[in-house]
Amino acid sequence: MFEKSAYQKSVPIEEEWSEETVVVQAGRPERVPTAPMNTPITLSSTYIHPALIGYARDGNEVWAALEIALGELDGGYAISFASGLAAASAIAELIPASGTLVLPRASYYGVKNIFDILSKRGQVKLRFVDGGNTEEVIANIPGADMVWMESIANPTLVVADIPAIAAAAKANGTISVADATFATPMRQHPIALGADIVLHSATKAIGGHLDLLLGIVVCKSKEHAAVIDSYRHDRGATPGSLEAYLALRGLRTLSIRIDKSEESALELSKRLKAHPKVKAVYYPGLEGDSQYAIAQKVLPKGAGSMVSFEIDASPTKVDEMLGNLKLIAHTTSLGGVASSIERRTRWPAEEAAGVPMTLCRFSVGIENVEDIWRDLKSVLG
Ligand SMILES: *Cc1c(COP(=O)(O)O)cnc(C)c1O
Repeated sequence: MFEKSAYQKSVPIEEEWSEETVVVQAGRPERVPTAPMNTPITLSSTYIHPALIGYARDGNEVWAALEIALGELDGGYAISFASGLAAASAIAELIPASGTLVLPRASYYGVKNIFDILSKRGQVKLRFVDGGNTEEVIANIPGADMVWMESIANPTLVVADIPAIAAAAKANGTISVADATFATPMRQHPIALGADIVLHSATKAIGGHLDLLLGIVVCKSKEHAAVIDSYRHDRGATPGSLEAYLALRGLRTLSIRIDKSEESALELSKRLKAHPKVKAVYYPGLEGDSQYAIAQKVLPKGAGSMVSFEIDASPTKVDEMLGNLKLIAHTTSLGGVASSIERRTRWPAEEAAGVPMTLCRFSVGIENVEDIWRDLKSVLG
């Protein structure tokens, strides 16, 4: 594994700096005369000998800058990938051949799909659990090689009890993984809560502008990081340097974007809950939500920008309503500056059984909250 510091010298991070400062400063080039403020994008597949990075699959300065920043925020060794799913595939490499994985039944469909494929090939055995039932998750850990958590879960917004599950995993010699895409590095640090591995789809809030695909794995141990890093090199799951640059540029404003989106998400979840056409609202930051107590423990700063809710209408009618929105984009994906919404079971083959038919996954952007509400109200009636 490359020591990133060998080819990417970056500004030192002061111990007393808050995360709001670290997210802006970490991974910037060392401040020496003539140094640029940002690591330049290098578009070259190969380099003249002798070179530390010989071929573009070996490493890239902008990946290193992004990884230094995310490693600093999450307290581990970060490795960037072509997408969140490429990053999840790399994590699967830590499970020994025919090993056992404990996986929430309602995990993000793409992650579940990776493990279904591996399971069909006999490469992994799966123990499905209810990710929101901590006792059930813990009861399934003995003898397992890895336990997967999603905090906060997509699209059910169930919050995993990372400290309890990670502690049980540690006691059993099981690797614990937390997909923290919804929480973002501004709201949760799974490694500090006891997890071994963190996954972020930077396609979502880290990138934040709906213009790239990128995934991040952060490892507590150098040994795990070496395996993940080799996987990227050997299987070629590398990010583009332009994408890495954009993800890092997005990361710089994550702190203020999440503050704004989250404030609106809380307000909108309250208004949705009071609306007669809305059957149910799922937002872990909302008092009275089934996940509120656990969220207070593992997401003390706030519950982020994602809200799910069910509309009291037929699925066809709900799709029609979402199609009539003018401000909120009727589209998949999430975490952008622009609000977006999707009825998840419009993908019946992909979305987990048990996700309600009219559940709308709503990604709250940074637009004016009253404008967003007016748009929602105009279609809800
Ligand atoms: C989108 C997403 C992924 C997959 O990331 P891609 O960048 O789309 O490959 C993984 N986990 C969660 C929770 C996601 O929302």
